[in-house]
Amino acid sequence: VVVAHAALIGGLIEACREVIAANADHLSELDRAIGDGDHGTNMRRGLEAVYAERNRLAELTLPKALEEIGLILVMSVGGAAGPLYGTLLIETGRQLAGSNGQIEFARALELAITAVARRGRASPGDKTLLDVLYPVHAEVVRRAGLAHICEEAERAASLTFGMRAMRGRAAFLGDRSVGHVDPGAKSCALLTAVICRFLEE
Ligand code: ADP
Ligand code: MG
Ligand code: MG
Repeated sequence: VVVAHAALIGGLIEACREVIAANADHLSELDRAIGDGDHGTNMRRGLEAVYAERNRLAELTLPKALEEIGLILVMSVGGAAGPLYGTLLIETGRQLAGSNGQIEFARALELAITAVARRGRASPGDKTLLDVLYPVHAEVVRRAGLAHICEEAERAASLTFGMRAMRGRAAFLGDRSVGHVDPGAKSCALLTAVICRFLEE
């Protein structure tokens, strides 16, 4: 990838904002089936808040930018997904920064995903965004290509259709949560896919 650093961060922010804006209605519709119908609105609010600060964020190092974006999401998303996505980015950024570049991205991501799981008290198979994050991490570890990571994220999100929700609002539905794609898993797959496509170019 041969783009200037600031353009990379700015471009990623723009791509993420766009995919969430374009899919906000769909994400809220998924959340209407097993939650309170606001996941698309929540995520759009968050990405708009990040987008509003893109010029400042683009001047930061990547670890610092990830941390700052995470803080903005925690403050702006509102809803369970905010602190979880926030933790993911804040921890990835802190791990990358704290190790003086000695840590591999895959390892930083792993520690961040562990922090998300701890924060949400969620495990694989609980029908949450973690059911996309774990498989994506596994693909990163085995150094799969970006196109493959993107496919795996979409596949993982669709697999939440058959899962019974154990965490978050959807868990109140018990068995009735089966037969619906998890909104957080879907937003996570959309974001992973758009990031992979952006990095591919
Ligand atoms: P809220 O449920 O507060 O309205 P959102 O609708 O924005 O928040 O986000 C819901 C998504 O957050 C779910 O689809 C799920 O993927 C994720 N989620 C909710 N609770 C948890 C949890 N405890 N651990 C992991 N992910 C969770
Ligand atoms: Mg909701
Ligand atoms: Mg809500």
